[in-house]
Amino acid sequence: MYDRMYSIRMRAAEGGPHEQGGLHISGGETLVPKVLLEETTKNMLQKALNHSRGDADFIQVIVEKISSNEVVSLAPLSVTTEAVKSVEEGHHRSVEILQSLGVSNKAITNGMGLLKSTTNFRGAVVLSASSGERLDDRGLRGVRATRMGWSHEGYARWSALYAELASPRIAEAIVLATKVAHAPFMIAELCWSDDPEYITGYISSQQNGYVRITHLKEKGDFSGGRVFYVSDDVQMEHFIDFLEQTAVLLV
Ligand code: AMP
Repeated sequence: MYDRMYSIRMRAAEGGPHEQGGLHISGGETLVPKVLLEETTKNMLQKALNHSRGDADFIQVIVEKISSNEVVSLAPLSVTTEAVKSVEEGHHRSVEILQSLGVSNKAITNGMGLLKSTTNFRGAVVLSASSGERLDDRGLRGVRATRMGWSHEGYARWSALYAELASPRIAEAIVLATKVAHAPFMIAELCWSDDPEYITGYISSQQNGYVRITHLKEKGDFSGGRVFYVSDDVQMEHFIDFLEQTAVLLV
């Protein structure tokens, strides 16, 4: 049904490419049919050029064709919002939610500590949900989930259901969180953006869906990123292969 899907990936940095020490400005991933390829690529470029983290001087856009029989269809995670009044309250709530999902206190402390002190990751850090140890060896690059997007019908249905939330930022994050939540060995994802203007973050899991927490950092703060908590029996190659290679379309 979805023939000729294309994966579009963008990464942008200031001060040269990421691998030469440039500051990560923006990234994006989507999966679109051929008719939307040009428009979406243009929008991706706009996103890189108009970002509050800085003025990108390195922008890479990669377009790849994916054959339709490789695409896995998933329903978007359900969304709830926890309105909190301060960073302290937001962090407190995050700890409670992560604990309820079986993430250990040590792993929570390590994950939150990482996000508080990190300003330049392109991908996510993979932590053991029990020991809190970092399990990937990707350094500053981290692990990037890729090859994922909304189907036209899926987005139309979702944005009608969540009219007040249907911004491009949230729609993109839902795609990422849904794909990640369905990865083998995955327990929970913790995220707040490294965009200094955006202070709402989330914790997502197959169990609880996508739980937005309205205040996880102060405005003007460049720290942020993503932590993927995985179970002890994780096979890292299998886990990362799903995130990077399996094409996922939200329907
Ligand atoms: P953003 O939600 O775009 O503000 O991204 C916040 C942080 O999440 C980035 O700095 C990365 O550390 C991480 N991130 C962004 N995109 C991805 C992705 N596709 N896969 C894994 N981590 C990502």
